[in-house]
Amino acid sequence: MTHVYNDSDTFKDGVLTGFAAAHLRYVQRVPDASGFVRAGGPLAGKVSLVIGGGSGHYPSYNGVVGPGFADGAVLGDIFASPSAEQVYRIARAAHGGAGLVLAFGNYAGDRLNFGVAADRLRAEGMDVRVVWVTDDVASAPPETVGDRRGIAGTFTVYKMAGAAAERGDDLDEVERLMRHANASTSSFGVAFDGCTLPGASDALFHVEPGRMDFGLGIHGEPGISSTDWMSASGLAAQLVDRVLAERPASADGRAAVLLNGLGATKYEELYVLWSEVAPRLHAAGLDVVEPEVGELVTSLDMAGCSLTVTWLDDELAPLWRAPADTAAYRRGEATASTLFTERAVAADATVAAAEEVASEESRRHAEVAQRLVATLAATVDEHKERLGEIDAVAGDGDHGIGMSRGSRAAHEAADAAATAGGGVHSVLRAAGTAFGDRAGGTSGILWGLLLETVGRDLGNQEAVTLDRLSGAVRTGAARLREFGRAELGDKTMLDALLPFADELGRGADAALPLAKAWQAAADVATSAAEATAPMVPRVGRARPLAERSVGTPDPGAVSFALIVTAIGEQLTQTSSPTSEES
Ligand code: ADP
Ligand code: MG
Repeated sequence: MTHVYNDSDTFKDGVLTGFAAAHLRYVQRVPDASGFVRAGGPLAGKVSLVIGGGSGHYPSYNGVVGPGFADGAVLGDIFASPSAEQVYRIARAAHGGAGLVLAFGNYAGDRLNFGVAADRLRAEGMDVRVVWVTDDVASAPPETVGDRRGIAGTFTVYKMAGAAAERGDDLDEVERLMRHANASTSSFGVAFDGCTLPGASDALFHVEPGRMDFGLGIHGEPGISSTDWMSASGLAAQLVDRVLAERPASADGRAAVLLNGLGATKYEELYVLWSEVAPRLHAAGLDVVEPEVGELVTSLDMAGCSLTVTWLDDELAPLWRAPADTAAYRRGEATASTLFTERAVAADATVAAAEEVASEESRRHAEVAQRLVATLAATVDEHKERLGEIDAVAGDGDHGIGMSRGSRAAHEAADAAATAGGGVHSVLRAAGTAFGDRAGGTSGILWGLLLETVGRDLGNQEAVTLDRLSGAVRTGAARLREFGRAELGDKTMLDALLPFADELGRGADAALPLAKAWQAAADVATSAAEATAPMVPRVGRARPLAERSVGTPDPGAVSFALIVTAIGEQLTQTSSPTSEES
């Protein structure tokens, strides 16, 4: 359980405020942004390493900001990727002029959000490299290592990249070494029980009493195999064997090793386990270099641990050994860098864009759009729990909360934009930006993009007709498909969105009234969402547990169908200006 909190919705904000207050020596907050940069940073001429992900993994990621480690850390809500906007703001503030490496564990939401932020930073002239960590051997076979998710290995990989940047390596070199460190890193974990989100009455999942789940994800993604309880010695054998099975032929035996506690496993238990792990590693011929036993990448109060090995060579060994001085992790003697002594002027976190003046007609239609965004938010709230349950089957169970956070913020932003006299584009763009920023995760950025794209196509001048609307939805669907690199049949929200867009187009061709065409398309989306149940997910967080997902529909497709259905009902009930004009 999480016993200490004010309000579950603002848990992360409290963490940020308290952490900043406690660690002024190490970090400074970036105004209006969810994260930190190094105290005294950014350093002119130094490559900056910006790491991040969802909250709930402390000391990852803010706990390791400081000399020898990260230059900035960006945090999303609990277990949810930070939004592209937040990544952008922290990265901009951390940039010292010599380029940026953005790093995170391999999850769909993080890849999308960090990717969008990177594009934006590059458009402003910064040299940005994006590196994601793929150490979890349980999440994909060796043939597809690139699909593996990132767990505790993020720690060793970030540590080495941070050391390279600290000694003055240039951006190409820091990126190269980091990729090399990632390719040399494998982790395997076990869970004894699940973790509980602040304010929730029960854990995201449970491990049956008397059993252990191997290969469990750090966000409550279910395990790969379940066994009866075993002693520390048996457990050590399982972990060591599985990780050493990935030993590359080139490894000479030197290894950085991390026995990581997930949050509710006591240090004493970890040391008992280490007493069994260490001799096994030794017997396998490993030269264990400065091992770490403790909590470095946690998962709230999850009971469990993982073993990480990074195979060292002449390049990586000095980086692993290099000093670091951060709030949660120290190694060696912390000395201030003599290489980077000047503070760079950090760029402003936000730049406001000028608003276009909307036509009368578009303003009227913007009020309809505003009401429909309210319907979207109400629908998500109504089904929040069920969406979370569906996502928990093979994903991380946050689809309901994420969508709810996003759609509430979208609702507020749409209201504000409409009140300010915005047209359809301004209202939907405001809604989309707020959605993506507050929801985080995969659906956050996808829904944000969808709303923004539809809005942009509809513009701030012309009336909304069914023809234009169906064209805008089609453009939005195409953009999502291109952006998320998913196809029909991959078991994502696209499986509901694409048929929806097609049916809306047919309605427009048949010159149906707007509300009727929308409802027909919503019906198609509903059947299409149900039809995802037997599918095997090929992208997204559910992919490592593909078989578990069979029999349950895709959460993103289900929420999409629920939303467009509710919007259809609303359009039918109110004789809105949009339907009159179609
Ligand atoms: P997260 O995966 O970050 O936890 P959510 O749980 O909110 O995010 O959303 C999961 C949903 O995102 C999936 O059910 C799926 O519909 C959708 N999704 C995941 N990856 C993609 C993708 N590449 N393209 C389109 N939709 C995707
Ligand atoms: Mg999820």
